[in-house]
Amino acid sequence: MFKLAVLPGDGIGQEVTVQALKVLDAVKIKYNLDITYQTGLIGGCAIEKTGDPFPQETQKLVAQSDAVLLGAVGGPQWDGPDKKVRPEQGLLAIRKYLRLFANLRPVKCWPQLIEQSPFKKERIVGVDLLIVRELTGGAYFGAKGKKTVDGESKVYDTIEYSAEEIRRIVKVAFDLAGQRRKKVTSVDKANILDTSRLWRKIVEEEKTNYPAIDLNHLYVDNCAMQLCINPAQFDVLVTENTFGDILSDQASVLGGSLGMLPSASIGEGSALYEPVHGSAPDIAGQDKANPLAAILSVAMMLRISMKNSAAAMAVEKAVDTVLQQGLRTADIWTQGSTSVGTSTMAAAVIKALG
Ligand code: NAD
Repeated sequence: MFKLAVLPGDGIGQEVTVQALKVLDAVKIKYNLDITYQTGLIGGCAIEKTGDPFPQETQKLVAQSDAVLLGAVGGPQWDGPDKKVRPEQGLLAIRKYLRLFANLRPVKCWPQLIEQSPFKKERIVGVDLLIVRELTGGAYFGAKGKKTVDGESKVYDTIEYSAEEIRRIVKVAFDLAGQRRKKVTSVDKANILDTSRLWRKIVEEEKTNYPAIDLNHLYVDNCAMQLCINPAQFDVLVTENTFGDILSDQASVLGGSLGMLPSASIGEGSALYEPVHGSAPDIAGQDKANPLAAILSVAMMLRISMKNSAAAMAVEKAVDTVLQQGLRTADIWTQGSTSVGTSTMAAAVIKALG
């Protein structure tokens, strides 16, 4: 029995999660999956009910689950300088609680949406890449402080990585490349940084365990440029926390819309699956949100946590079919396509699953 914790959160998080679960229900029947789910609170709605964005009850639920499906958190009612407890603290807390050290962000250029990209068509055709970002180390978690040098005050952040921290994320990248086009690009700044030199050494060591995978190294500045010039060259990119944060947002533009981008965060225990987008208060409650990012997050869960590639591919194929049919939520709408809402889009995906 596979136990899934469902945390819809706030705003459109609620709407897209409901629809993604309907798709999962259809997959469950079609592939005879033994899966149960239980819903919990996170973010703003959790603050309203308990005062805590990641309440004890939700902690207990995720601890007992094999995976977590999250919608999104946040909203203007919880913003403001006077608010001490914020929904986004719930996200940081769950990531820490589950010790999620790898963030996976696939970016695909859907041929049906290619006209909407700010990039020239010929540059992005065939883009299908996965960014594997280290999530719990580097500058965001290293020692920081203030000191006085020659009477002048200075501040510093330090980048720290242990060999073990690097090895575990690099293994994730090689393993995932094995299920894809078998190519890993490791991104660093080994011409300048000691942490990058250790990073590169560990990548080379691990490569010996993966003879079928092609490996190349790129400096981060060159990688940023290559993502614009020739993004179709990439399969799996693996990099440290800060570089990954920046590159994954840069790469997300290639996907056309936030509403099309799923993600996964994995650690030693249960993994967390969530669309990249936020709670979109501007369109919440209007049946306007694109549910495909949440649905594609379910596909990632089927592939990674449930090891069911056939079911994952079926969901991805169904998404491809509805785009082919010309169905579009507002964020991906173009002249001549058929405008649909959140629930109609998800229903079409279920129909396409057959
Ligand atoms: P956002 O991602 O919520 O929205 C940005 C823009 O994209 C909006 O115009 C929105 O309408 C549109 N959009 C987003 N997802 C869409 C979808 N599925 N379909 C159609 N359009 C979509 O980012 P924001 O406006 O900066 O933040 C809103 C709230 O969400 C804030 O409280 C923020 O803190 C929170 N947030 C949460 C997460 C998360 O839960 N992981 C991520 C980002 C932002």
